[in-house]
Amino acid sequence: MEQIACVALAEIGNPKPPIDLAPLARIFDCDIQFTYLNGPEGYTVRTGTGYHIYIATDLEGDPQTVHRRQRWTLAHELSHVIAHWNLPWNTTKTLDRVSRGLLNILEVEANWCASRLLIPDYCFETLEDLIPSYLAEKCDVNFTPASKRIEHLSWRVRNRLQALIPVPLERAAAYLFFKDTGSFSS
Ligand SMILES: [Zn+2]
Repeated sequence: MEQIACVALAEIGNPKPPIDLAPLARIFDCDIQFTYLNGPEGYTVRTGTGYHIYIATDLEGDPQTVHRRQRWTLAHELSHVIAHWNLPWNTTKTLDRVSRGLLNILEVEANWCASRLLIPDYCFETLEDLIPSYLAEKCDVNFTPASKRIEHLSWRVRNRLQALIPVPLERAAAYLFFKDTGSFSS
């Protein structure tokens, strides 16, 4: 999944966060529609040559949270398109033609890929990027996906960031907070 997301982002020139996925949708012939869905946050249907991606507008929450959930949903649906194009997949229950077991795997994969489309490895540039609220702001995602992304950050990226500080990464936030006051001791 990670590699698929990397290739997809390279296709649109590895844009800086917050990443606009509309160009990627165009490449894969996806027509995006924001509409009332009464339940699901999004779903995708195949058309003859491409896809229609529907994103729910009837979500509860403040405008920023809703906007970020919609960004995530688009990334999730696009992930199905780019990663599962070879499967008889659909995200609406009535149109599902894959088993429940496989569908569960596809859902996990789509979330994994969505996370890497909106928060790619290359956006981890400074120590502040390890702070969930900072990363959420930078990538225009909600706090939970930002926090999970940091939690599952690869060792390669961790090592790169670790080289920037003299304390374990787990203490990076405290280090950042206290380094200017001179009261931090490792
Ligand atoms: Zn899905």
